[in-house]
Amino acid sequence: MKIIVNNNIIDRDAFSVDIEDRGYQFGDGIYEVVRIYNSKFFTLDEHLNRLKRSADELKMELPVTIKNVAENARRLIEIENIDDGIIYIQVTRGTAPRVHAFPQNPNPTLIAYATPFSRPIKAQKDGVATILIDDIRWLRCDIKSINLLGNVLAKEAAREAGAFEAIQHRGHIVTEGSSTNIWMIKEGELYTHPVSNLILNGITRQVVLDIAKELGIKVIEEEYTVSDLLNADEVFLTSTTSEVMPIITIDQKKIGAGSPGQITQQLQAAFANKIALLSV
Ligand SMILES: *Cc1c(COP(=O)(O)O)cnc(C)c1O
Repeated sequence: MKIIVNNNIIDRDAFSVDIEDRGYQFGDGIYEVVRIYNSKFFTLDEHLNRLKRSADELKMELPVTIKNVAENARRLIEIENIDDGIIYIQVTRGTAPRVHAFPQNPNPTLIAYATPFSRPIKAQKDGVATILIDDIRWLRCDIKSINLLGNVLAKEAAREAGAFEAIQHRGHIVTEGSSTNIWMIKEGELYTHPVSNLILNGITRQVVLDIAKELGIKVIEEEYTVSDLLNADEVFLTSTTSEVMPIITIDQKKIGAGSPGQITQQLQAAFANKIALLSV
């Protein structure tokens, strides 16, 4: 398996992480996951721009330009012969003696690797179960940081409950899933948490906002409560790997009729169209 390390494509076995890498010791790093459909990247530029934004917010220099990352990513999926898959891209602040404050001369390290991944078609058709959980994360959820313990604990709670995702809330306000954005439909209108420090502004979220505009569905980017969510007509989640995923239960309570809603299905169809457009 070949991987990207900074500006090089090398064997996975030729790379190792230093014990004093700040990603390893402090979670001092950022990441992206980008989808590959039919050997083509979906919204690669959007993801790389967000990687740059995350780096800027953490005063971290990227070791290579995002143009360079894009070129190497394209080479990598050709070498690895990835048809349907994902690429994981991570940048840490690099190796330095272990003190909390930034090193004087940081040497940030970018790594990326691609793996096959198929669309979760069955779950998209049937819908998924979710649970509610307190959002215990820090106040910079807008940064796609590799510091994911809050998210990890939320997802583990979901797994233990036999659910697909944990829907986090701060007090009464619904924020987002452990690695997904959450949406609800009430009386034909689409609601999702506004962009702020409390959620990660998903690229899929932005694609779905565009789709909703194209379909003439009214979008309300405002805070809404757990009780609003439980009483919604339809609920779904979005992410790079889940795309548009219907939510049919929350803490075992049925949403709507307990099956994927009509507007959700309309959004799914439009999303599938965007993927199909990649290959023409
Ligand atoms: C990555 C992520 C998402 C979804 O973002 P996409 O760009 O659509 O994949 C949502 N929430 C969190 C916490 C995330 O890390």
